[in-house]
Amino acid sequence: MPKLTTTLEAYEVWFLTGSQDLYGPETLAQVAKQSRRIAEELAAAKAVPVTVVWKPALTEADAIRRIALEANADDRVIGLIAWMHTFSPAKMWITGLSALQKPLLHFHTQANVELPWGEIDFDFMNLNQAAHGDREFGYIQSRLGVPRKTVVGHVSDPRVTEQIGIWTRAAAGWAATRSLKLARFGDNMRYVAVTEGDKTEAEIRLGVQVNTWSVNDLSGAVEATEPADIDALVAEYENLYDVAPELRHGGDRHQSLRDGAAIEIGLRSFLEDGGFGAFTTSFEDLGALKQLPGLAVQRLMAEGYGFGAEGDWKTAILVRAANVMGAGLPGGASLMEDYTYDLTPGAERILGAHMLEVSPSLTTARPTLEVHPLGIGGKDDPVRLVFTADPGPAVVVALSDMRDRFRLVANAVDVVEPTAPLPKLPVGRAVWKPAPDFHTSATAWLEAGAAHHTVMSTAIGIEAFEDYARIAGTELLIIDQDTTTRGFTRELHWNAAYYRLAQGI
Ligand code: MN
Repeated sequence: MPKLTTTLEAYEVWFLTGSQDLYGPETLAQVAKQSRRIAEELAAAKAVPVTVVWKPALTEADAIRRIALEANADDRVIGLIAWMHTFSPAKMWITGLSALQKPLLHFHTQANVELPWGEIDFDFMNLNQAAHGDREFGYIQSRLGVPRKTVVGHVSDPRVTEQIGIWTRAAAGWAATRSLKLARFGDNMRYVAVTEGDKTEAEIRLGVQVNTWSVNDLSGAVEATEPADIDALVAEYENLYDVAPELRHGGDRHQSLRDGAAIEIGLRSFLEDGGFGAFTTSFEDLGALKQLPGLAVQRLMAEGYGFGAEGDWKTAILVRAANVMGAGLPGGASLMEDYTYDLTPGAERILGAHMLEVSPSLTTARPTLEVHPLGIGGKDDPVRLVFTADPGPAVVVALSDMRDRFRLVANAVDVVEPTAPLPKLPVGRAVWKPAPDFHTSATAWLEAGAAHHTVMSTAIGIEAFEDYARIAGTELLIIDQDTTTRGFTRELHWNAAYYRLAQGI
């Protein structure tokens, strides 16, 4: 199997333009020319990271149905953008939209910015009538119940290309989720509830294949590593990180670093051989592994893999999806856990970390590579990268199995500098202030039954997860500057009814 890819250029979105034959070939030639120009501007926009492919204007039902079927069948295609430049009577779109299985974005735009007031004649009006052509299209989408993102404005508006770019990232995250194979080493941490879930339902709803392998299969791969490969990886560590003297060549504990490198090589080869894009471990089930995988997991997350600790496959899915959605952007994505609070009145903050497994993609600083006792698990002291996440805007997102549906909960947060250094906390960590304030955020999070494990993304925000959830048909509860406890509680009650009704009987 090839190495895991987490880049977006190879993904395509097709740009469809609706029209009809009524206007004659001259007008349709102008429609083609102008829509091609808009598609080219989208393709060239820095905010749009995927390949935009213009398609000839659609003027009849069978062509619309066939392009929907072509998009369904082509794995490169992650979504369609549709614009009704003229008027495209929407009954022509019923069969095609009903067949479409790929995400859809309705781009409500027009070719010109300003009206050429003195020049407008009825030819101009005939050509530039998206203002009502797109309303006809909106009607049929709503009537059919087609989930889509609606973006309004001219292609030259940076907010427009940003919104479209975010949607393409969400569509790519969805494509990666649909094709994701996830390897679990060991089961869930004993007695823990929220990390459990219905893996069959996850494959039905999200397309993810979640299956379990014995940790002995993994330790077998670790034991099969070649000393020369370990030498090379240790040299890479010394190049990339400030390695503690005791771990370096000639240091007392150099063997711990070699053991950590062997775990990384074995784990990576197991994941590549199986075509896996995400995995989980369990500190209660480490078999013959000498250490809890820390360094290896941190580095694999930073490369784009999804990961969940203690058997938490749901968070592993989110970390993989967030890595794809944020590909190429500054920042990163990581498993995160709300650990402990600073409850200073008016300045409440959350200190997040995990035993070891926080991705160094959250920092631009050079991490240190250290070894310390773990306290649980009964294994050798594990090697790990130590750093503090960069300050800046971020989002934390959790996925819970509510039995009748999956629930995403997202909180907009600000990562901040710790008040003081943390010399006795040798792990990757982040300190943040949740929106709208600590009390509202924590109340909403608890009322929603959202998990203590999350993905933290510093590369993408709430809008990407909104687009992702809409595409997935998954409930998403947002906690941000607009959230009030009262409104949030009402939303929980409404959602309980809505999602049951929406599923049918
Ligand atoms: Mn945990």
